[in-house]
Amino acid sequence: RAGAEGGDRFCIHSPEQSDRGRRRRQLEQDLGCALKRGQLQVYYQKQCDQKGNLIGAEALLRWQHPELGMVPPDEFIGQAERSGLIVEIGEWVLEQACRQLRNWQRQGSRIRVAVNISARQLMDDSFVARVESVFNRTEVDPRRVEFELTESMMMDNLSQGREVMLKLKRLGLSFAIDDFGTGYSSLVYLSQLPFDVLKIDHRFVGRLPKDPYCCKITKAVLSLAKTLGLKVVAEGVEYAEQHGWLVRHGCDLMQGYLHGKPLPTLEFGKDLEAEALPQ
Ligand code: C2E
Ligand code: MG
Ligand code: MG
Ligand code: MG
Repeated sequence: RAGAEGGDRFCIHSPEQSDRGRRRRQLEQDLGCALKRGQLQVYYQKQCDQKGNLIGAEALLRWQHPELGMVPPDEFIGQAERSGLIVEIGEWVLEQACRQLRNWQRQGSRIRVAVNISARQLMDDSFVARVESVFNRTEVDPRRVEFELTESMMMDNLSQGREVMLKLKRLGLSFAIDDFGTGYSSLVYLSQLPFDVLKIDHRFVGRLPKDPYCCKITKAVLSLAKTLGLKVVAEGVEYAEQHGWLVRHGCDLMQGYLHGKPLPTLEFGKDLEAEALPQ
């Protein structure tokens, strides 16, 4: 017994663990320069209505690391939040998304855009001013823009968060609660913050329509949203059966690989042109 386990005791980290640790430390170190060095990019994913018409796009951040390749946001957003870098990065994402929206509008599209906002940004004293100046610079109508908030980071001061949201709503912005049902306090958030849209997390959508329990939960969430007067977006829609089930149960918008993967600006723009033609 001692022989078999003794070896493990001296080798605390398995090779994979130390690889992962090394990768994490490298990402932490390099993130500070990623923006300056032009390594960040914004991808766009379609949001479609019940008939499949393109209504909006969610802006999703990507990091093209020179050695590690494409790094998904789940690997660096947390670090950006802890270090405070998210304030600068998030403002950059918003500006990119607004510039793009402006271009698409000039080409005749009536699309909307959704941008992920971290609680850390919302709680930053300069946030409202930063957002206003982005809208002024890009000349975008804030009514075409939605901010998505997740609970990945606890908002320590809900009444302050509420004040900031109300100020931005007065500009015309709308707010979505992202990944609904997966955080610590979805219902507290929903009851105390002025949301317009509820996004059902892909962890629920992915089990539709086969998992009866999940169907019941999703129906209840849809009914909760309707009672509160919120629009509903389902995330992670991969199969036609899921789209069909969601439409039958009154979900307003669908987002997922079925309608399109997140795409770089140019490719998304081509899809947009193609969709605009028949009208
Ligand atoms: P999210 O806002 O919930 O975004 C949806 C995620 O689901 C995206 O992951 C998207 O690529 C993925 N997804 C889309 N369709 C499907 C599907 O059909 N099946 C499955 N399995 N997944 C699908 P992504 O791009 O890796 O982003 C992960 C998270 O990182 C986002 O989750 C969001 O919370 C955060 N994030 C991304 N960009 C930003 C940003 O600019 N700022 C902040 N603060 N967070 C961001
Ligand atoms: Mg989102
Ligand atoms: Mg989500
Ligand atoms: Mg998420």
